[in-house]
Amino acid sequence: MKAIGILGDGQLALMLTQAARARGVPVLALATSSDSPMARLCPAETVLVSSTRDDDALLAFARRCSVMTLESEFWTAERLAWLERESGVPVVPSAAHFAWFEGKLAQRRFFASLDLPGPRWCSAHGELDDAVAEVLRALGLPVVVKADRGGYDGLGVRVAATEPALRAALTELGLARGDAVLVEEKVAIEAELAQGILLTGQGGSVLLPLVETVQRDGVCNLVLPPDRLPEGVVAHAAHVMRLLEGSGLRGLFSVELFWTRDGRVLVNEGAPRPHNSQHVTLDASPVSQFGLLIDLLAGHPLPESVPLRRVCMVNLLGRRHTDAPTLVLPALPPGVVAHPMLYGKTQCRPGRKMGHVNLVATDDDVGRALDLRALGERVWDEYTL
Ligand code: ADP
Repeated sequence: MKAIGILGDGQLALMLTQAARARGVPVLALATSSDSPMARLCPAETVLVSSTRDDDALLAFARRCSVMTLESEFWTAERLAWLERESGVPVVPSAAHFAWFEGKLAQRRFFASLDLPGPRWCSAHGELDDAVAEVLRALGLPVVVKADRGGYDGLGVRVAATEPALRAALTELGLARGDAVLVEEKVAIEAELAQGILLTGQGGSVLLPLVETVQRDGVCNLVLPPDRLPEGVVAHAAHVMRLLEGSGLRGLFSVELFWTRDGRVLVNEGAPRPHNSQHVTLDASPVSQFGLLIDLLAGHPLPESVPLRRVCMVNLLGRRHTDAPTLVLPALPPGVVAHPMLYGKTQCRPGRKMGHVNLVATDDDVGRALDLRALGERVWDEYTL
């Protein structure tokens, strides 16, 4: 069998590679930096190219693979379509499916076409005065204004409660460049949730666990089981996720959801790839999100479901500038095992995602008695890196 190709060299590529190794499945990752997690920690599976704009290098990589997949959105559907066409090697998700996730407006249109519930939204474009009038007519205030492309971790997202703030946000997040901007009603969020789904492309799916993500300053710092949610919300989120089965999508997809104060489950955004929130499955599920994707791509049998043990994941963000990062975790209570993973990044900076740690209860009875959120918050407050 030729390799599974990963179009990227970051931590998600690294974790996919580890899952492939565990299954004896060959992988190759396309790297553009000799200092990336893949190049540093898995050099044997890494193909270093000078740039993803180098056509010959990209085609030579593709021809060593039987199928390729993605670990980031730093591609365009156009480039992926070219790669599939010229090499004859499929990308999962395909270029056509990737296009549905290319930009926040495309995603809103795609989700709406499948009747996935979301906040009320509109596209603001053209002259500023017209765009403002359209937003006020369609949504009123307050609203959340989002750059269509290029935003992540809350950059490119602005709340506007007044007309001057709306004008400024629309201008800066796109209109000044001639780009359309996504505007959404500002919903009252009770909890932010995330769920993954592996889609076979033929109507089948494997749902990953629903989790609660706790954000601070636009960045997820904790991931928890959905303990605060009534049973009905978990089932409703699963129903919403399964609406994706009708799309023909193939691959692993991740969806961020809101549980609102008035009890609605709304889709925020999706990603056509593994997701940080599902790293809990690495140590607290029989199969991880990475293992599932490799199993799909390698044609292995798929499980019916992916249960989750009692776990809290803490994202390990850099706390200082250093080129020799060392993680120190606080002492944990009995019955909890820490599974830390650092991604091999040499340059540690405040706020940079350096790794994560899963805090897993050794048995479910211990786990049920634990306040996982309080434990996660304490670890978040006390770790040094
Ligand atoms: P990014 O892609 O940068 O992560 P998101 O679209 O996820 O941006 O938005 C970042 C955060 O802004 C969300 O996690 C949520 O807290 C808040 N947010 C986004 N959309 C809305 C909305 N429609 N109503 C209220 N809050 C929102």
